[in-house]
Amino acid sequence: MLNTSISTLKGVGKVRQNALHNVGIDTLGDLLAYYPRAYEDRTKFYTLDDFPEDTAICFRATVGTSVKTTIIRKGMTIAKCKVFDEYDTVDITFFNRRFLEKQLFVGKEYIFYGKITSFRGKYHMQNPEFEAVGKSKISGKILPIYPLTEGITRNFLINSMALTLAQIKEIPDYMPESIVKSCGFTSLDTAIKNVHFPSSPELLQKAVNRLCFNELITYSSALAQFKSSIRAQNAPKMKVISLNPFLENLPFELTNAQKKTINDIFEDMYSGYSMNRLVQGDVGSGKTVVAAAAAYLSALNGYQTAVIAPTEILASQHYKNFTKMFSGMNVRIALLVGSTAKKEKEAIKSALANGEIDLVIGTHALLEDNVVFKNPALFVVDEQHRFGVAQRSKLSKKGQGCHTLVMSATPIPRTLTLIIYGELDVSIIDELPPGRQKIDTFFVNTGYDKRLYAFINKLISEGSQAYVVCPLALESEESDLASAEEYASFLQREIFPQLSVAMLHGKLKAKEKQAIMERFKNKEIDILVSTTVVEVGVDVPNATLMVVRNAERFGLSQLHQLRGRVGRGSEKSYCILVSDTSNSDTKERLNIMTKTSDGFKIAQEDLRLRGPGDFFGMAQHGLPKYNSIVNHADMRTVECAKAVSEKIIADDPELKKPENQWLYKKVHQLRNKLGDTKLN
Ligand code: ADP
Ligand code: MG
Repeated sequence: MLNTSISTLKGVGKVRQNALHNVGIDTLGDLLAYYPRAYEDRTKFYTLDDFPEDTAICFRATVGTSVKTTIIRKGMTIAKCKVFDEYDTVDITFFNRRFLEKQLFVGKEYIFYGKITSFRGKYHMQNPEFEAVGKSKISGKILPIYPLTEGITRNFLINSMALTLAQIKEIPDYMPESIVKSCGFTSLDTAIKNVHFPSSPELLQKAVNRLCFNELITYSSALAQFKSSIRAQNAPKMKVISLNPFLENLPFELTNAQKKTINDIFEDMYSGYSMNRLVQGDVGSGKTVVAAAAAYLSALNGYQTAVIAPTEILASQHYKNFTKMFSGMNVRIALLVGSTAKKEKEAIKSALANGEIDLVIGTHALLEDNVVFKNPALFVVDEQHRFGVAQRSKLSKKGQGCHTLVMSATPIPRTLTLIIYGELDVSIIDELPPGRQKIDTFFVNTGYDKRLYAFINKLISEGSQAYVVCPLALESEESDLASAEEYASFLQREIFPQLSVAMLHGKLKAKEKQAIMERFKNKEIDILVSTTVVEVGVDVPNATLMVVRNAERFGLSQLHQLRGRVGRGSEKSYCILVSDTSNSDTKERLNIMTKTSDGFKIAQEDLRLRGPGDFFGMAQHGLPKYNSIVNHADMRTVECAKAVSEKIIADDPELKKPENQWLYKKVHQLRNKLGDTKLN
């Protein structure tokens, strides 16, 4: 029944079938697995003396004046009426709605749904939905909001879900009852029905937990299996070397955490089995030198290393750093990025194929099929959460039979590491190089802007530079969030005409971005207004101020990353989070930033306040994109999935036992969907 083609459903012709296929829906089962992305809660009713502004709400009101329709121009009508409850009245305007006078009658009571705005002391409403009291079909319910694409409307989806559920009656559960019960989850049938048409907020949460569990247990079992399989893969066995010449070349002593991490890596690379290691370390903890030590080992053994960064800015910064660290040593280094001139690219490629380059640094340009290595041994991936699944899959193909070192500055709470980075061994650099100063962090609202501008002026007059981060790149009509483009030109024109203000965002060409960063580094730019493109690894020690506009729009971990852009030199640094939020949870979140600078603590708080969804999003692991349901998993569900899958895989690594066939099938499907040898 679940495998029945979607074309058998009423209202699905060729065109709709195609549209549905494009979002992965071919069968009735696929349709039911197309979960809502949000819900409209029409269970709560408000009265006109107390209701939230800027939110669509339900309220009961009586029509006070008969509907008057006027034609304002050809094909354009306006209909108006007044409604009231025991506290107040609302003026309602409908555009282009016909026959309203036959639907809304004076003296009768209706349930209205929509946003109420207040203007000149009066309440107004446009195009509300309404139902007569006593005849309501949707008021009092929680309604699903689906992700929509061309050719698929909300009504179509709601009707089709209802039709399908009526046809199927009871959805069989593929998971053994013992597992479902052991974690206290609901049956699949109850879960699917309630995820589309929740009978109560409580049942909706239960449905979400169960469906998340379905996804997570498959994913974490696949990872657990994968982890044991890659352990056994061969990779170049390195001869033991002395790291001293490399260490003597450094302008600093390694921290103990760096030493320990390098030890972990060398042990892996001496073993003859492939290394799959994640180095997690807060911004500025010094991961680059750790990667360089690994590259040194590889080069001295006569092998090649590739270092892959998510942006050209970062790749060329690494190139400079590595060149410095390897100066005077016999290690041949090259930089290969998208914007490298064609001729040079060809030369580098042939040198790589001939083994004339020991260390190549670049972006995903390195992952193209025509980049061939003579004798590769080590792949280093920096800021790996920035890479998409497809790029990671390419990477793992290139890295077949090699050692892989993954570096991430995004601390993940310990409880989540296994499920997010399940197949990787983890080294943590939990110590900053000595002499780092605390970055003073403040949380203010826009009322503080005047003083903020004065502060910026003062710092810059003392020879410093500032970052300003905005949530949007370009101005948008749908949003009043600060955009980098708009805010940069505002600052330049209105506030700092005497200073040099520039703008940086992801929509610029790589060359332009590069040029702007160069100018910022050379102090030709005083204030750099940007989007989160500066979040990743950029190093300009002279910048001592990070301002974040609409700070409420960023996750704590992201704010922590942004803050890590300053405090890199000897001068005192500051971070100012600007937000006009009135939401008390958001305020609490932003206040955490002012109190701690420990990335792991911040991640833990983020987890406590926002749930694990953001971390899953960040890790961009193999879970299907459209299936955002897993973003709403709660921690208990994550822990259950982890515990149950570990137990099953430990007992039956290949999932051969009859009672595990359901899981074998799911894991198999997941692998097929990802088309990956590696799941990472
Ligand atoms: P991240 O971990 O964020 O990638 P980097 O590797 O960019 O950090 O290092 C940040 C800065 O700290 C660099 O300027 C680097 O040279 C410096 N650094 C790294 N390790 C040490 C150390 N042990 N002592 C002093 N400075 C260090
Ligand atoms: Mg780094």
